[in-house]
Amino acid sequence: MLSKICPACGKDDFSLPFVGAFCRDCFVSRSPLYVLPSVSLQYCPCCGKFRLSGEWKDASFLKGFLQQRIKSDYELKDVAVVFDIHRKDVIFSVKLKLDVHGTIVEANDKARFVLDKRSCASCSRQAGGYHEAVLQLRGPKDLVALKAESIERKLKGLTFIAKVVKQKNGLDLLVGDKRILAQFLHGSGYVFSNKLVGRRDGRNLYRATFCLRL
Ligand SMILES: [Zn+2]
Ligand SMILES: [Zn+2]
Repeated sequence: MLSKICPACGKDDFSLPFVGAFCRDCFVSRSPLYVLPSVSLQYCPCCGKFRLSGEWKDASFLKGFLQQRIKSDYELKDVAVVFDIHRKDVIFSVKLKLDVHGTIVEANDKARFVLDKRSCASCSRQAGGYHEAVLQLRGPKDLVALKAESIERKLKGLTFIAKVVKQKNGLDLLVGDKRILAQFLHGSGYVFSNKLVGRRDGRNLYRATFCLRL
């Protein structure tokens, strides 16, 4: 059988596989097989979350985010991604296996995403002392303190506690998200009320208040 000779480098197909008329190396160097994305990523330094497709998510979602954005006309047989988060950017190291007209081509590459640092919605509200709900814990002092601690632990990552205020007969927890608090307290026997806290633009402003007796 006649062997193929690469018109670019003169190697034959005994020494390496061919893609069409060219040897694999020359084919790869003549036409890009894939394009890695290069974007800037919004990153919240307070909580370490990234804004990915419009939502604030933690770093574990970065891999999938990059993988979905690799563009290629060829079939990606395998993609392995590792990444490092630095002060100014995230560097992705990418290992690819592509099926290029029946020949498997491997590539190692790097992609750099510049970090655009800004507070996420939740952190900026928290910094502003904003809160939607007040959870009033009432009862014996020790019990209230224990309960406050456990609630703070359990709500972590779901919403935030802007402040804990001491009261004569217990503690007030100022909580970021009233829906999350309501879900969390479901079935606990709390008493709910909407408190009028002021007016803005001609409308009454209410604050959700949940009272829990221990
Ligand atoms: Zn060649
Ligand atoms: Zn944040």
